[in-house]
Amino acid sequence: MEIRRPAYFDDFRCLAGSCPDSCCKEWDVLIDEDTAKEYLAMPGPLGERLRQVMYEEDGQHYFAIQSDRRCPMWRDDGLCRIQAEAGEQALCNTCREFPRLTHDYGDFIERGLELSCPEAARLILSAPAAPWITETAPGDECEYDEEAMEILLRTRQEALSILENRQYSPAEALALLLIHGYRSQEVLDGAEPEPFDAVSALDLARELACEGDSEALTAFFLNLEILTPQWKERLKAGWRPSTLPELCRPLARYFVERYYLQAVSDYDLVGRVKLTAVSCLLIAGLGGDFTQTAQLYSKEIENNADNVDAILDGAYTSPALTDARLLGMLLK
Ligand code: SF4
Repeated sequence: MEIRRPAYFDDFRCLAGSCPDSCCKEWDVLIDEDTAKEYLAMPGPLGERLRQVMYEEDGQHYFAIQSDRRCPMWRDDGLCRIQAEAGEQALCNTCREFPRLTHDYGDFIERGLELSCPEAARLILSAPAAPWITETAPGDECEYDEEAMEILLRTRQEALSILENRQYSPAEALALLLIHGYRSQEVLDGAEPEPFDAVSALDLARELACEGDSEALTAFFLNLEILTPQWKERLKAGWRPSTLPELCRPLARYFVERYYLQAVSDYDLVGRVKLTAVSCLLIAGLGGDFTQTAQLYSKEIENNADNVDAILDGAYTSPALTDARLLGMLLK
């Protein structure tokens, strides 16, 4: 089995007490079953404290955030009390792994970092496009439709090449990514593959583009679940058309690398390509520091499966996310 990871994966080091945000606030932490058992049996003051702040819902254990929206195990010096008193091995999987991602397809694994961590966001957006590091390890049987995965792996490589092609601006590259996504969806649905002609695809994108609707776009995101007042304020301040910066290339690469292959589970590739395009558009159009906005977006959207699902559904149903409007916001 191959285990693949982007080159920047190994550079990640948690900023701990110097983190400008923190993964230890704003959400309840899911505690895996084995660790929950250890916490429930842990002796001494640390065990007592853990049992005070854990709660159980539908058979799962969590740490509840406090009224100040911080994890109850977060100390005043910004460090975690569990790690400080019992060592890193005592952390639950969520805290030990974050912001590392694992996508296990059975006979290969892809790893990555989550954009919602400020240090991971810095690495993701500053990393040049580079081949992934690959290791081999004993593996299981593949857990997917092999023909579909072959199409997705091949067309994902094409999609990544489109994003890196400096002949096209970041906005044009995203418009091409959308058209390429539709063509790849057709192949996934059984059509014969044909070479992708970027010149005619860009002409088609310009023909299809109509005026975007920035109010509908921000209203769509305001209707999703919102975690922080800061995000609500940013959305209410509105989306402004802007020239997409070069940072949209590594940002789009991150979304493609993270979500594209997941279409093997439900055969919805178009939804994931539109998720990539609208994420880049929104982050760029909200203004402010691009990396900080991307990190906040990820915390609000990617770390909430309901929000991601709402965008995947909205890709087909929301008037704010029609192909013509997204293309218009990219190209007009
Ligand atoms: S958000 Fe990232 S850098 Fe900050 S504390 Fe969590 S893992 Fe460390």
